[in-house]
Amino acid sequence: MSEQRHVEVVVVGAGFAGMYLIYRMRRAGRSVQGFETAGDVGGTWYWNRYPGARCDVESMEYSYDFDEDLQQEWTWTEKYSTQPEILRYAQHVADRFELRPHIRFNTRVEAAYYDEGTGRWLVRTDDGDELTCQFFVMATGCLSSANLPDIEGRDSFGGVLAHTGRWPHDGVDVTGKRVGIIGTGSSGIQAIPVLAAQAGHLTVFQRTAQFTLPARNGPLDPAEQDRIKETYAELRAANRKMPGAFGSRYARRKGNALDATPERLRAEFDFLWEQGGPLFLASFRDLMLDPEANRLAADFVREKIAEIVDDPETAARLTPHGLIGCKRLVIDTDYYETYNRPNVMLVDVGSRGDPIQRITPTGVLVGPDGTEGEGGEHHELDVLIFATGFDAMTGSLLRVDIRGRGGRALADKWANGPVTYLGLNVVGFPNLFTVTGPGSPSVLANMIVATEQHVDWISECIEHLDANGLTTIEATPEAEAEWVAHVNAIADRTIFPTCNSWYVGANIPGKPRVFMPLPGFPNYVKRCEEVVAGGYEGFVLS
Ligand code: FAD
Ligand code: NAP
Repeated sequence: MSEQRHVEVVVVGAGFAGMYLIYRMRRAGRSVQGFETAGDVGGTWYWNRYPGARCDVESMEYSYDFDEDLQQEWTWTEKYSTQPEILRYAQHVADRFELRPHIRFNTRVEAAYYDEGTGRWLVRTDDGDELTCQFFVMATGCLSSANLPDIEGRDSFGGVLAHTGRWPHDGVDVTGKRVGIIGTGSSGIQAIPVLAAQAGHLTVFQRTAQFTLPARNGPLDPAEQDRIKETYAELRAANRKMPGAFGSRYARRKGNALDATPERLRAEFDFLWEQGGPLFLASFRDLMLDPEANRLAADFVREKIAEIVDDPETAARLTPHGLIGCKRLVIDTDYYETYNRPNVMLVDVGSRGDPIQRITPTGVLVGPDGTEGEGGEHHELDVLIFATGFDAMTGSLLRVDIRGRGGRALADKWANGPVTYLGLNVVGFPNLFTVTGPGSPSVLANMIVATEQHVDWISECIEHLDANGLTTIEATPEAEAEWVAHVNAIADRTIFPTCNSWYVGANIPGKPRVFMPLPGFPNYVKRCEEVVAGGYEGFVLS
């Protein structure tokens, strides 16, 4: 019998998080094995190849800053780069730092069991391979488990069916076709204008109207790019002080909207609307804290929808109720304008319309509940696209059978929602790290910055253990409980927990309702630094 293979670190996932982690481990001379379900690096940008997919944090900021030569030599062509360009960037990083030899692609990690006797993790993959490691790092992404709702008749559809988050590599030909799309979150809103321009007819099935703001994307002026690069380190440092770890170049005055005169409010919102991008809600301090203030911004966008969309009924259906930014804010290119095209139809399948009854072999049947199609409307389709999002933040973590001390499953521990210390570790799971895990700023921040901060913290923690002849780190129950309470207290000061978003797991039937990320990147980083300065306060090192 051959001896079981052992490495110091196993990294699951080869998106931006896994890639940087593997880089750091190799740079420190550690043995590391990466595993990735996909056929190559890139994570999000490998899977989400739908038309219109691009980032919504500017590319000069949504990129690694760990290597000065890399950030100086790479050139972005657009303000918000397209998925193919971001994927090329990820591939370039893999080539440049020779990461691929340390990653096994087309391989899913199925299970990881902690052995209290040896202090090692036993990791098993879907091809039956097993190996052990000292540190087990889940860099599996917050938005990587596609949510394909189990709508009756789904699998009977005879045309082409695709999910935006698992887009076929050879594309989907929609030219001249009758296309339907379910979902109007960021993915749907990016895809809809591009699909509309290619399809014969596009039917949008909208359950909840979403707020979206113009991106004002365009080519990136090479001179501006050079200028940014001259002081790149300063820009990165300034961004790390921003609540979302981006956008310092656009930082605006910080009064309260409720104290502003109607004229000043209007001028500011007009300015931000014309400027474009996701910083609309960063303008006044109270927009994300006070529903009354938020309503001022929401009303402004509601007015814009009425101005842009020609047909008043369609405009009304597109107009979101409630607060802006409670669900993840979307930025778009010509989204509302697209509904003025003659080949685009909006079908409200939410509370203000009739739900989807079922999917048929030839389309989607929409109608009043309980009528079994009587009085319903059948939409004939050649292509049906699910832009229905992800089992966010916990989905990919819980799809692996992770068992810690006493054989306890992470799924059991998190039965009522995720609990972590700093979003980095979980009591009962020694030497398990989660990158951008629940309880950290994660999806509320520029995720490459959040990733680099987590990977740096984990790497330095492993160095510290080694340097001190220690082998194990695990959070204490008190620190974990305090952290969970802290995250809830911060979230409760904001408008975030007040609506049904994927931030609270509301998009997945049966998922416990817990607000998962932590608002405020700079305070979080400070806390992480304090924990280290205090000798890894809240952890037991042994
Ligand atoms: P991912 O890129 O999701 O990579 C995780 C990888 O782990 C995946 O490739 C997956 O296949 C693999 N994996 C998961 N489970 C297993 C397993 N059991 N075994 C083996 N492999 C596994 N964030 C921003 O900050 N700005 C943006 O503009 C932005 N745009 C986005 C656009 C889209 C369409 C989406 C879906 C997300 C976007 N995000 C954005 C969030 C984005 O997910 C992060 O920015 C970032 O790419 C996450 O990197 P990651 O490495 O943590 O995770
Ligand atoms: P999402 O925001 O969760 O949106 C999913 C959409 O599908 C929602 O409109 C939802 O309606 C609808 N839906 C889900 N199940 C449905 C069902 N059974 N019937 C009808 N409609 C259903 O997912 P996403 O658009 O993929 O975006 C997820 C996240 O990924 C974003 O919030 C963002 O963080 C990231 N992302 C970023 C970008 C970018 O611009 N850079 C692009 C894409 C994704 P309800 O609202 O009613 O639930």
